Amino acid sequence: MTVSRRDFLGMVGMAGGSATVFQMMTVMGLAAPSTYVQPKLGNEGQGKKILILGGGLAGMCSAYEMQKAGYEVEILEFNARAGGRVWTLRGGDNYTELGGFEQTCQFDKGLYLNPGPWRIPHVHQAYQHYAREFGVKLEVFPMINHAAYIHRKSGTKERQGALMVDMQGHVSELLAKAVNQNALDQAMTAEDKAKLLEALRGWGFLDKDYRYTKSLATSLYRGYERDPGARLEPGTPSTPLTLDAILKEGLWSNLNDGLSYEFHSTIFEPVGGIDAMARAFEARTRQFIKYRSKVTSIKQDDAGVSVTYQDLATNTTKTARGDYCICTIPLSILSQIPLTGLNSKLVDGIKKVPYAPSFKAGVQYKRRFWEQDEQIYGGVTYTDQTMSLMSYPANNYNSLGKGVVLGAYMFGPDAVRFTGMNPQDRLKEVVRQNIAIHPQAEKEFDNGISVGWHRVPWTLGCYGLYNDQTRKDIYPTLCALDKRFILAGEHTSYWNAWQEGALLAAVSAVEIIHKDAAQRS
Ligand SMILES: Cc1cc2nc3c(=O)[nH]c(=O)nc-3n(C[C@H](O)[C@H](O)[C@H](O)COP(=O)(O)OP(=O)(O)OC[C@H]3O[C@@H](n4cnc5c(N)ncnc54)[C@H](O)[C@@H]3O)c2cc1C
Repeated sequence: MTVSRRDFLGMVGMAGGSATVFQMMTVMGLAAPSTYVQPKLGNEGQGKKILILGGGLAGMCSAYEMQKAGYEVEILEFNARAGGRVWTLRGGDNYTELGGFEQTCQFDKGLYLNPGPWRIPHVHQAYQHYAREFGVKLEVFPMINHAAYIHRKSGTKERQGALMVDMQGHVSELLAKAVNQNALDQAMTAEDKAKLLEALRGWGFLDKDYRYTKSLATSLYRGYERDPGARLEPGTPSTPLTLDAILKEGLWSNLNDGLSYEFHSTIFEPVGGIDAMARAFEARTRQFIKYRSKVTSIKQDDAGVSVTYQDLATNTTKTARGDYCICTIPLSILSQIPLTGLNSKLVDGIKKVPYAPSFKAGVQYKRRFWEQDEQIYGGVTYTDQTMSLMSYPANNYNSLGKGVVLGAYMFGPDAVRFTGMNPQDRLKEVVRQNIAIHPQAEKEFDNGISVGWHRVPWTLGCYGLYNDQTRKDIYPTLCALDKRFILAGEHTSYWNAWQEGALLAAVSAVEIIHKDAAQRS
């Protein structure tokens, strides 16, 4: 029997799900790991001006690619810096949130918090392309750290590696039992059964009787009570968690976090702070950016787009005009700006995308106790406290000075609750919860800073939220060119909430405009 490629992929899909199919297609050369294709525009943009609203990654990437093709470009950016959500807070930085709370970052030199983006998946090929082109150095971000914890308010605190091995061991033992009791006879041949038993023994760390037990053999995977040493010290076996203990508190649930496609190894972070990519784009587009320019109205006519903006430095109202406009202002802000001459369905759609509330706190501790006392180097600890997770610095390992951890990162109602407090009280609560995981945190606390994204004046939310219905009803209109006006930004991609989405959206906007301009001339 011959099997077509399509049939083969269908079979793989049934066995392993769509992620497996995707990987298999990649191996067979049928799918690329990203939709990113480097734009090739030629040099026909002369004599046309592109007005770009917002100087985040999408805005700067649009400008960078369009000016290469000969277009005149101008960016209007609200802040005194470019980069938007690609932002790093360092000692001396000031931040005032909506409502007036002002914080000054007090981290020591060389330490920082990435309050927004912090991780770069290897599959984000647009990002990787620009990192290569601009020489942005990346270092590995260990998304899964077997030494980090799963923590519960009850006081339970387990190393992720041991937990993973225990879960795999218990499930394998159960399945081996079912096979040996002939419970799967209808589904399997005798040969399949033998192969499965052999696999379960290896994959589940089972003994010769297909049992997952306390032994030096299982400790080789889950870790020891006392590690092996020199000469006559083989190590002391550790006691596996019972299946009941794992299930009772749902300890397994956080193990899946690192398995989602975007978190597959290898994950990166730029050396020195996430804003390295923003700085790289800014260095190449600075001459086109009008900083501290707050767009206050947008009007399209048949020949182009006019914008009024407030020059925040001089407090005067000014205007700008382009033959085309690429608007990357987050929809949470754009929905409050008067829009004239745009398709009414587009105006309506802009108002229908909610933005996620989210909260992050960075805490400087006087000593890197997570490394020195607990051998945790980078990665993420998960907890059922409202702080949700804690992430350890993935750089300068074993340095003897202070260190900054991501002390809390959550979405939804807990994020809103935290920003309901003043910055000092938020920090107290974050540290109180950190202490429940690491008692050393009490003595070692130094200072900290927090950002609630729904209170950031220039974005009012973490990212645009879609559901199946809005993707179907609104999203295609948000993606389309409306005469001379087009949206770009993470919210016009399927990688929304990622820098990759902002870059892909920018590159596609550039190509759409370039094609339209060529057809008109
Ligand atoms: C908490 C958090 C975690 C994240 N984690 C990751 C991650 O780990 N990895 C990753 O790759 N991505 C992550 N992201 C997503 C990533 O930050 C965004 O997808 C990306 O930065 C969006 O870029 P953008 O250009 O579309 O929008 P923005 O960066 O928001 O740029 C829009 C620009 O418009 C400007 N603007 C707003 N209003 C006006 C106005 N009226 N006039 C003029 N200008 C205006 C803003 O100042 C801003 O500079 C995260 C984001 C957040 C908030």
